[in-house]
Amino acid sequence: MSSSENIAALENVSKHYPSRDGRSVVRAVDGVSLTIRRGETFGLVGESGSGKSTLGRMLLRLIPPTSGRVLANGEDITALPERALRARRRDMQIVFQDPYASLDPRMTAGAIIAEPLDVHRIGDRASRAVKVRELLDLVGLDTSAATRYPHEFSGGQRQRIGIARAIATEPKLIVLDEPVSALDLSIQSQILNLLMDLKAKLRLTYLFISHDLAVINHMSDRIGVMYLGRMVEMGNAARLLADPKHPYTEALLSAVPSLGLGKDRSRIILSGDPPSPENLPQGCRFHPRCRLVVNRCRSVEPMAVGTASGDRTECHLASY
Ligand code: SF4
Repeated sequence: MSSSENIAALENVSKHYPSRDGRSVVRAVDGVSLTIRRGETFGLVGESGSGKSTLGRMLLRLIPPTSGRVLANGEDITALPERALRARRRDMQIVFQDPYASLDPRMTAGAIIAEPLDVHRIGDRASRAVKVRELLDLVGLDTSAATRYPHEFSGGQRQRIGIARAIATEPKLIVLDEPVSALDLSIQSQILNLLMDLKAKLRLTYLFISHDLAVINHMSDRIGVMYLGRMVEMGNAARLLADPKHPYTEALLSAVPSLGLGKDRSRIILSGDPPSPENLPQGCRFHPRCRLVVNRCRSVEPMAVGTASGDRTECHLASY
Protein backbone atom coordinates (compact mmCIF):
# COMPACT_ATOMS: atom_id res chain seq x y z
CA MET A 1 0.00 0.00 0.00
CA SER A 2 1.40 3.44 -0.91
CA SER A 3 1.96 5.96 1.85
CA SER A 4 -0.59 8.32 0.22
CA GLU A 5 -3.29 5.78 1.04
CA ASN A 6 -2.18 5.99 4.66
CA ILE A 7 -3.21 9.25 6.25
CA ALA A 8 -1.30 8.55 9.46
CA ALA A 9 0.85 5.83 10.91
CA LEU A 10 2.64 4.75 14.05
CA GLU A 11 5.75 2.64 13.69
CA ASN A 12 6.72 0.58 16.70
CA VAL A 13 5.77 3.37 19.12
CA SER A 14 6.07 3.11 22.89
CA LYS A 15 5.14 5.46 25.67
CA HIS A 16 6.76 4.74 29.00
CA TYR A 17 6.38 6.90 32.11
CA PRO A 18 8.12 6.72 35.45
CA SER A 19 5.65 5.43 38.05
CA ARG A 20 4.36 7.83 40.72
CA ASP A 21 6.86 6.65 43.30
CA GLY A 22 9.62 6.75 40.67
CA ARG A 23 10.59 3.14 41.36
CA SER A 24 9.30 1.52 38.19
CA VAL A 25 8.28 2.23 34.62
CA VAL A 26 4.68 2.35 33.42
CA ARG A 27 4.50 0.88 29.93
CA ALA A 28 1.32 2.63 28.74
CA VAL A 29 2.00 1.70 25.10
CA ASP A 30 4.65 -0.83 24.24
CA GLY A 31 5.81 -1.27 20.64
CA VAL A 32 2.64 -0.71 18.60
CA SER A 33 2.46 -0.22 14.83
CA LEU A 34 -0.66 1.01 13.13
CA THR A 35 -1.62 2.62 9.84
CA ILE A 36 -4.80 4.62 9.35
CA ARG A 37 -6.02 4.41 5.76
CA ARG A 38 -7.50 7.46 4.12
CA GLY A 39 -11.30 7.50 4.41
CA GLU A 40 -11.66 4.67 6.90
CA THR A 41 -12.89 4.52 10.46
CA PHE A 42 -10.39 2.57 12.52
CA GLY A 43 -11.95 1.48 15.80
CA LEU A 44 -9.68 1.04 18.79
CA VAL A 45 -11.13 -1.01 21.62
CA GLY A 46 -9.85 -2.22 24.98
CA GLU A 47 -10.38 -1.91 28.71
CA SER A 48 -9.57 1.26 30.57
CA GLY A 49 -5.79 1.49 31.01
CA SER A 50 -5.03 -0.49 27.85
CA GLY A 51 -3.26 2.47 26.24
CA LYS A 52 -5.92 3.44 23.66
CA SER A 53 -6.05 7.16 24.50
CA THR A 54 -2.28 7.41 24.77
CA LEU A 55 -2.01 5.83 21.33
CA GLY A 56 -4.56 8.31 19.89
CA ARG A 57 -2.69 11.25 21.35
CA MET A 58 0.63 9.99 19.98
CA LEU A 59 -0.95 9.70 16.52
CA LEU A 60 -1.66 13.46 16.69
CA ARG A 61 1.72 14.07 18.36
CA LEU A 62 -0.13 15.67 21.28
CA ILE A 63 2.25 13.59 23.35
CA PRO A 64 5.66 12.50 22.05
CA PRO A 65 6.45 8.77 21.97
CA THR A 66 9.31 7.43 24.09
CA SER A 67 10.45 5.53 21.01
CA GLY A 68 9.20 4.74 17.51
CA ARG A 69 7.99 6.99 14.68
CA VAL A 70 4.82 9.00 14.01
CA LEU A 71 3.95 9.66 10.36
CA ALA A 72 1.37 12.07 8.93
CA ASN A 73 0.73 11.73 5.19
CA GLY A 74 3.99 9.84 4.93
CA GLU A 75 6.01 12.60 6.64
CA ASP A 76 7.91 11.75 9.82
CA ILE A 77 6.57 14.16 12.46
CA THR A 78 8.09 12.38 15.48
CA ALA A 79 10.62 15.10 16.20
CA LEU A 80 8.96 18.03 14.44
CA PRO A 81 9.33 21.25 16.48
CA GLU A 82 6.13 22.60 18.07
CA ARG A 83 5.85 25.50 15.62
CA ALA A 84 5.94 23.26 12.54
CA LEU A 85 3.66 20.80 14.28
CA ARG A 86 1.05 23.48 14.86
CA ALA A 87 0.64 23.96 11.10
CA ARG A 88 0.14 20.19 10.62
CA ARG A 89 -2.48 20.13 13.38
CA ARG A 90 -4.91 21.95 11.16
CA ASP A 91 -5.37 18.61 9.39
CA MET A 92 -5.59 16.51 12.57
CA GLN A 93 -8.12 17.19 15.32
CA ILE A 94 -9.51 15.46 18.39
CA VAL A 95 -12.92 15.16 20.06
CA PHE A 96 -12.74 14.36 23.77
CA GLN A 97 -14.89 12.11 25.90
CA ASP A 98 -16.25 14.62 28.33
CA PRO A 99 -18.11 17.49 26.69
CA TYR A 100 -18.50 19.10 30.15
CA ALA A 101 -14.78 19.28 30.83
CA SER A 102 -13.53 19.99 27.32
CA LEU A 103 -15.38 23.27 26.74
CA ASP A 104 -14.24 26.47 28.46
CA PRO A 105 -17.25 27.58 30.56
CA ARG A 106 -16.29 31.26 30.16
CA MET A 107 -16.46 31.19 26.36
CA THR A 108 -19.58 31.27 24.19
CA ALA A 109 -20.18 28.35 21.84
CA GLY A 110 -19.38 30.69 18.94
CA ALA A 111 -16.00 31.65 20.44
CA ILE A 112 -15.20 27.99 21.22
CA ILE A 113 -15.92 26.91 17.65
CA ALA A 114 -14.01 29.88 16.19
CA GLU A 115 -10.94 29.30 18.38
CA PRO A 116 -9.14 26.90 15.97
CA LEU A 117 -9.81 29.39 13.14
CA ASP A 118 -8.14 32.09 15.24
CA VAL A 119 -5.21 29.84 16.16
CA HIS A 120 -4.58 28.91 12.53
CA ARG A 121 -5.35 32.45 11.31
CA ILE A 122 -8.09 31.28 8.95
CA GLY A 123 -10.28 34.09 7.57
CA ASP A 124 -11.16 37.42 9.17
CA ARG A 125 -13.68 38.24 11.88
CA ALA A 126 -16.65 38.44 9.53
CA SER A 127 -15.85 35.25 7.62
CA ARG A 128 -15.24 33.39 10.89
CA ALA A 129 -18.70 34.41 12.12
CA VAL A 130 -20.21 33.05 8.88
CA LYS A 131 -18.19 29.85 9.26
CA VAL A 132 -19.37 29.40 12.86
CA ARG A 133 -23.00 29.61 11.71
CA GLU A 134 -22.32 27.05 8.97
CA LEU A 135 -20.64 24.73 11.47
CA LEU A 136 -23.51 25.01 13.96
CA ASP A 137 -25.89 24.11 11.18
CA LEU A 138 -23.70 21.17 10.11
CA VAL A 139 -23.75 19.67 13.62
CA GLY A 140 -27.50 20.18 14.02
CA LEU A 141 -27.55 23.22 16.32
CA ASP A 142 -29.47 26.43 15.85
CA THR A 143 -27.31 29.38 14.84
CA SER A 144 -28.55 31.24 17.95
CA ALA A 145 -26.37 28.81 19.95
CA ALA A 146 -23.34 30.91 19.04
CA THR A 147 -24.02 33.45 21.80
CA ARG A 148 -24.80 30.94 24.56
CA TYR A 149 -22.44 29.41 27.14
CA PRO A 150 -21.64 25.70 27.65
CA HIS A 151 -23.76 25.39 30.84
CA GLU A 152 -26.85 26.35 28.81
CA PHE A 153 -26.60 23.18 26.69
CA SER A 154 -27.37 19.51 27.28
CA GLY A 155 -24.55 16.91 27.19
CA GLY A 156 -25.39 15.92 23.61
CA GLN A 157 -25.48 19.55 22.48
CA ARG A 158 -22.14 20.19 24.13
CA GLN A 159 -20.63 17.26 22.28
CA ARG A 160 -22.03 18.75 19.04
CA ILE A 161 -20.14 21.96 19.90
CA GLY A 162 -16.97 19.90 20.49
CA ILE A 163 -17.45 18.26 17.09
CA ALA A 164 -18.06 21.65 15.39
CA ARG A 165 -14.79 22.88 16.92
CA ALA A 166 -12.97 19.78 15.65
CA ILE A 167 -14.19 20.19 12.05
CA ALA A 168 -13.72 23.99 11.93
CA THR A 169 -10.29 23.82 10.28
CA GLU A 170 -11.51 21.24 7.72
CA PRO A 171 -9.23 18.50 9.03
CA LYS A 172 -8.59 15.24 7.23
CA LEU A 173 -8.20 13.06 10.33
CA ILE A 174 -10.12 13.19 13.61
CA VAL A 175 -9.33 11.16 16.71
CA LEU A 176 -12.60 10.54 18.53
CA ASP A 177 -11.66 9.60 22.08
CA GLU A 178 -14.69 7.90 23.70
CA PRO A 179 -16.92 10.59 22.15
CA VAL A 180 -20.21 9.14 23.40
CA SER A 181 -19.21 7.39 26.64
CA ALA A 182 -20.37 10.27 28.83
CA LEU A 183 -23.78 10.53 27.12
CA ASP A 184 -27.15 8.85 27.73
CA LEU A 185 -27.86 5.87 25.46
CA SER A 186 -30.60 7.69 23.51
CA ILE A 187 -28.23 10.59 22.78
CA GLN A 188 -25.31 8.29 21.91
CA SER A 189 -26.92 7.06 18.70
CA GLN A 190 -27.73 10.63 17.59
CA ILE A 191 -24.09 11.64 18.00
CA LEU A 192 -22.85 8.46 16.26
CA ASN A 193 -25.18 9.15 13.34
CA LEU A 194 -23.97 12.75 13.18
CA LEU A 195 -20.36 11.53 13.11
CA MET A 196 -21.14 9.13 10.26
CA ASP A 197 -22.96 11.86 8.29
CA LEU A 198 -20.07 14.28 8.74
CA LYS A 199 -17.56 11.64 7.72
CA ALA A 200 -19.37 11.12 4.41
CA LYS A 201 -20.03 14.83 3.77
CA LEU A 202 -16.54 16.06 4.66
CA ARG A 203 -14.59 12.97 3.52
CA LEU A 204 -13.07 12.47 6.93
CA THR A 205 -10.93 9.69 8.36
CA TYR A 206 -11.55 8.63 11.96
CA LEU A 207 -9.62 6.91 14.69
CA PHE A 208 -12.55 5.97 16.93
CA ILE A 209 -11.57 5.01 20.48
CA SER A 210 -14.03 3.25 22.76
CA HIS A 211 -14.22 0.60 25.48
CA ASP A 212 -17.62 -0.39 24.04
CA LEU A 213 -17.38 -3.06 21.35
CA ALA A 214 -21.02 -2.54 20.26
CA VAL A 215 -20.23 1.10 19.46
CA ILE A 216 -16.97 0.15 17.76
CA ASN A 217 -18.84 -2.42 15.65
CA HIS A 218 -21.37 0.21 14.60
CA MET A 219 -18.71 2.64 13.40
CA SER A 220 -15.63 0.81 12.17
CA ASP A 221 -14.17 -0.51 8.92
CA ARG A 222 -11.20 -2.00 10.76
CA ILE A 223 -10.73 -2.72 14.43
CA GLY A 224 -7.69 -2.85 16.71
CA VAL A 225 -7.90 -4.53 20.10
CA MET A 226 -5.54 -3.25 22.79
CA TYR A 227 -4.51 -5.05 25.93
CA LEU A 228 -1.99 -3.64 28.40
CA GLY A 229 -0.21 -1.45 25.90
CA ARG A 230 -0.09 -3.96 23.02
CA MET A 231 -2.29 -4.21 19.93
CA VAL A 232 -3.14 -7.87 20.40
CA GLU A 233 -5.41 -8.14 17.35
CA MET A 234 -6.18 -5.95 14.38
CA GLY A 235 -8.12 -6.45 11.19
CA ASN A 236 -11.14 -5.99 8.99
CA ALA A 237 -14.12 -5.34 11.29
CA ALA A 238 -16.51 -7.92 9.84
CA ARG A 239 -13.85 -10.64 9.84
CA LEU A 240 -12.54 -9.86 13.31
CA LEU A 241 -16.02 -9.85 14.83
CA ALA A 242 -17.11 -13.03 13.06
CA ASP A 243 -13.90 -14.94 13.65
CA PRO A 244 -11.74 -13.43 16.42
CA LYS A 245 -8.25 -14.89 16.55
CA HIS A 246 -7.13 -13.67 19.96
CA PRO A 247 -8.67 -15.11 23.16
CA TYR A 248 -8.99 -11.59 24.57
CA THR A 249 -11.01 -10.41 21.54
CA GLU A 250 -13.15 -13.51 21.93
CA ALA A 251 -13.81 -12.70 25.57
CA LEU A 252 -14.72 -9.08 24.76
CA LEU A 253 -17.10 -10.28 22.06
CA SER A 254 -18.72 -12.86 24.27
CA ALA A 255 -19.72 -10.05 26.64
CA VAL A 256 -21.80 -8.37 23.90
CA PRO A 257 -24.40 -10.97 22.87
CA SER A 258 -26.36 -8.25 21.05
CA LEU A 259 -23.71 -8.34 18.31
CA GLY A 260 -24.97 -11.86 17.49
CA LEU A 261 -22.12 -12.45 15.10
CA GLY A 262 -20.31 -15.58 14.01
CA LYS A 263 -19.95 -18.68 16.13
CA ASP A 264 -22.28 -19.60 18.93
CA ARG A 265 -20.64 -17.89 21.88
CA SER A 266 -21.18 -18.48 25.51
CA ARG A 267 -19.98 -15.79 27.88
CA ILE A 268 -16.27 -16.04 28.62
CA ILE A 269 -15.62 -14.57 32.04
CA LEU A 270 -12.17 -13.05 32.34
CA SER A 271 -10.70 -13.83 35.72
CA GLY A 272 -9.21 -10.98 37.70
CA ASP A 273 -8.42 -7.42 36.75
CA PRO A 274 -5.82 -6.62 34.12
CA PRO A 275 -2.34 -6.60 35.65
CA SER A 276 -0.76 -3.20 36.10
CA PRO A 277 1.26 -1.72 33.22
CA GLU A 278 3.87 -1.07 35.94
CA ASN A 279 4.32 -4.76 36.55
CA LEU A 280 3.70 -6.72 33.37
CA PRO A 281 3.56 -10.51 33.43
CA GLN A 282 6.37 -12.37 31.65
CA GLY A 283 5.67 -13.99 28.30
CA CYS A 284 2.22 -13.18 26.91
CA ARG A 285 0.86 -10.34 29.01
CA PHE A 286 -2.64 -11.81 28.76
CA HIS A 287 -1.62 -15.21 30.15
CA PRO A 288 -2.85 -14.75 33.76
CA ARG A 289 -6.39 -14.28 32.40
CA CYS A 290 -6.32 -16.50 29.32
CA ARG A 291 -8.47 -19.66 29.29
CA LEU A 292 -6.28 -21.21 26.58
CA VAL A 293 -2.93 -20.59 28.28
CA VAL A 294 -0.18 -23.17 27.61
CA ASN A 295 3.26 -23.39 29.22
CA ARG A 296 5.03 -21.43 26.50
CA CYS A 297 2.71 -18.44 27.11
CA ARG A 298 4.19 -17.92 30.59
CA SER A 299 7.71 -17.29 29.33
CA VAL A 300 7.68 -16.44 25.63
CA GLU A 301 6.08 -13.27 24.29
CA PRO A 302 4.01 -14.18 21.22
CA MET A 303 5.03 -12.86 17.80
CA ALA A 304 2.41 -11.43 15.47
CA VAL A 305 0.92 -13.72 12.84
CA GLY A 306 -1.18 -12.24 10.07
CA THR A 307 -2.34 -11.89 6.49
CA ALA A 308 -1.08 -9.86 3.55
CA SER A 309 -4.12 -7.56 3.90
CA GLY A 310 -2.95 -6.42 7.34
CA ASP A 311 -4.99 -8.57 9.73
CA ARG A 312 -2.76 -9.69 12.60
CA THR A 313 -2.84 -11.28 16.03
CA GLU A 314 -0.31 -11.76 18.80
CA CYS A 315 -1.02 -15.21 20.19
CA HIS A 316 0.98 -18.47 20.11
CA LEU A 317 -2.13 -20.42 19.13
CA ALA A 318 -3.49 -18.13 16.40
CA SER A 319 -3.44 -18.94 12.71
CA TYR A 320 -5.16 -17.51 9.61
FE1 SF4 B 1 -3.55 -16.98 25.60
FE2 SF4 B 1 -1.13 -17.95 25.18
FE3 SF4 B 1 -2.43 -16.80 23.19
FE4 SF4 B 1 -1.48 -15.36 25.20
S1 SF4 B 1 -0.29 -16.52 23.70
S2 SF4 B 1 -3.45 -15.16 24.28
S3 SF4 B 1 -1.80 -16.74 26.92
S4 SF4 B 1 -3.01 -18.66 24.26
